[in-house]
Amino acid sequence: MSEALDTPVSRRLASVKNIIIVLSGKGGVGKSSSAVQLALSLLNLSPTTRVGLLDLDLTGPSLPRMVGLDLPGASVHQSSSGWVPVYVDQGRRLGLMSIGFLLKDRGDSVVWRGPKKDGMIRQFLSEVRWGDLDYLVIDTPPGTSDEHISLLTHLHPLFTPTPERPTTPASVLITTPQTTALNDTVKSLSFTRKLALPVLGLVENMAGYVCPCCGEISDAFGRGGGENMAQQNGIHFLGRVPIDTVLVGLLDAVSKGEVPGAAINEEVAEASTNGQA
Ligand code: ADP
Repeated sequence: MSEALDTPVSRRLASVKNIIIVLSGKGGVGKSSSAVQLALSLLNLSPTTRVGLLDLDLTGPSLPRMVGLDLPGASVHQSSSGWVPVYVDQGRRLGLMSIGFLLKDRGDSVVWRGPKKDGMIRQFLSEVRWGDLDYLVIDTPPGTSDEHISLLTHLHPLFTPTPERPTTPASVLITTPQTTALNDTVKSLSFTRKLALPVLGLVENMAGYVCPCCGEISDAFGRGGGENMAQQNGIHFLGRVPIDTVLVGLLDAVSKGEVPGAAINEEVAEASTNGQA
């Protein structure tokens, strides 16, 4: 391996088969929820699949809460070979790393300039002991920020496929059907093209509302904008997920600790496919 491709990040991530980066042009469109649902769906591919979730939303980490790990006892351990992620399930098949686990007080805010964020992202990529992973799902902040540039700069050595790792990092875009979200998604797409980051496709989230009484889907925020955008820009349309009160209820119950995160795997996977995704 050439020296440029042999970095602490590429060495650490050599045991990760696939890296999927979740992007959205705007906040609040369901990017983090989609990252969690993607990780849970991948986990359900087989009983031995192992998945990592990396929360790079440094100023607004929400993944610990979404998987039911926003608990006083849930913290990252430092071992001689790196940080050990916090596992969602007892079988240690779904691990999570988030800055939320490193803050003394979960209510603390992170107010950092670019270089400090860059240092943290490099550490997250080079020092977490994931072990062998089939998928690493990376949740990023909304828009295209310093965090995205740091992430892609540190992942750069992995963009050269090797016989051991034929796949290179790729992204999934999340949008809602509303025009403002779609316009911002076009900007995210342009960002991926400038940085030669492959796009696996686009998900239209909050596409319609599932009536809790009859299950019928009504188009609260319009529908089909994501699919049209995908077609116009030559990317795959991966599907649409409606606003689903079952999903809201489950995520709320998990974040309050009423349901253990691992126990919702199947229910969330079912709720998230309630639409057409
Ligand atoms: P982002 O990461 O884009 O800021 P989140 O994933 O945090 O957005 O989602 C924002 C809120 O919307 C969360 O409370 C989440 O539970 C809710 N949400 C996301 N997608 C759906 C959906 N399909 N149905 C119902 N609620 C959803």
